[in-house]
Amino acid sequence: MRNRINRMKTYRMQEQASSAKLIFIGLRLVSVKVLNRYRKTQELRVIKKDSVPQDAAGKGKRMLTGKVALVTGAGRGIGREIAKTLARDGAFVVVNYNGSKERAEEVVSEIGAKHAVAVRCDVSDFAACGEMVNGIVKEYGHLDILVNNAGITRDGLIMKMSEEDFDAVVATNLKGAFHTIRHASRTFLKQRAGRIINISSVSGVMGNAGQANYSASKAGIIGLTKSVARELASRGITCNAVAPGFIETEMTDVMTDAAKEAVMSQIPLQRTGKTTDIAELVAFLASDRASYITGQVISVDGGMHM
Ligand code: NAP
Repeated sequence: MRNRINRMKTYRMQEQASSAKLIFIGLRLVSVKVLNRYRKTQELRVIKKDSVPQDAAGKGKRMLTGKVALVTGAGRGIGREIAKTLARDGAFVVVNYNGSKERAEEVVSEIGAKHAVAVRCDVSDFAACGEMVNGIVKEYGHLDILVNNAGITRDGLIMKMSEEDFDAVVATNLKGAFHTIRHASRTFLKQRAGRIINISSVSGVMGNAGQANYSASKAGIIGLTKSVARELASRGITCNAVAPGFIETEMTDVMTDAAKEAVMSQIPLQRTGKTTDIAELVAFLASDRASYITGQVISVDGGMHM
């Protein structure tokens, strides 16, 4: 009888010990889960706190670190934003200007004098473009990104358009891009690398009444882009065009309210574009992330052209 009682006691003690063990294992599992969740939250916090653009290799470098970029017409408007965005992403930027010296110098001081320089050059001048491009390569050793942004308008109905207004627009908007590409292509070919981004326009894609000269120059940019893309692709050089719609700059400020309203009615996204809308795409096209994109015309126009 006593033996039976003892056996029962031992059995109960064993039972208690194993349930205590189970509770202990359960508690450990719960605490490991809680700890893991806490660690994950901490990691997320760290990533958010130190979020810098990563380069393609993900080593913490910014996506354009070490690149030298030339942006034409970068003292104001879209070009200014492009220059600042490329610099934000790590590039050294040559801020080209023609008439806006002070504003170009302002861009350089905003970026930081170690990371940018202002260079005057009228892009409609073939020889001056050669001096600018060769000067950059001589001074900095290479040129990696060329953004042809400089542009003007001389709007008017075709019946009244002067030859001078037609020529001036084509000389800056189309020939200007030819000049810089022509001079930079030698360096790009030697480097077996290079990014060319030409700023076209929705007017070049669709045409626009009152802008025959401007639309012709911007459509010409598209033909230039596709031909250069085909010619230089085998050496790893890409050439693309960006076609902005209605972007708020001094170029569009001069439009009458009626003209602005007429354009607005054609924008499915029902807002005007910002210079940042263009600059972010240009920065992407300039990066290694866009290495398989060439000969394209990418519209940034709120859906005006689709
Ligand atoms: P913006 O505010 O009028 O600026 C034009 C820029 O071009 C200025 O920085 C100007 O430099 C430069 N430029 C003009 N002639 C030049 C020359 N001969 N040499 C060097 N630079 C010259 O115009 P934006 O709106 O920023 O336009 C920028 C580009 O986007 C242009 O190609 C334009 O056609 C195109 N785009 C604009 C829109 C829009 O809605 N804003 C739409 C489609 C396409 P200086 O002041 O130093 O002379």
